[in-house]
Amino acid sequence: MNCDCVEDIRTKMVDHFKPEAGNDVQAECGGLGINLRTGGMSLSIPWTIRSSARGFSSAKGKSTYMVASFCPFCGKSAAAEPVKPAEGK
Ligand SMILES: [Zn+2]
Repeated sequence: MNCDCVEDIRTKMVDHFKPEAGNDVQAECGGLGINLRTGGMSLSIPWTIRSSARGFSSAKGKSTYMVASFCPFCGKSAAAEPVKPAEGK
């Protein structure tokens, strides 16, 4: 992620639930994890795939996920930002 949206929203969630859940309320974004391809943090959306084929036919099906390429809150690209070259001489 190249923005602070998840942390900003986490803080807002704590404030939102504090009256109902108390001052020790905590909020955690379940879709946030380390992207093993980029090494950065990414938001992912879980999916369950079911069919009669082997590996997909149990009641649990097969779990997979989609990684968001852009922040769903502000639209900024989630890809690693290119390293800027040093100011030239
Ligand atoms: Zn964002």
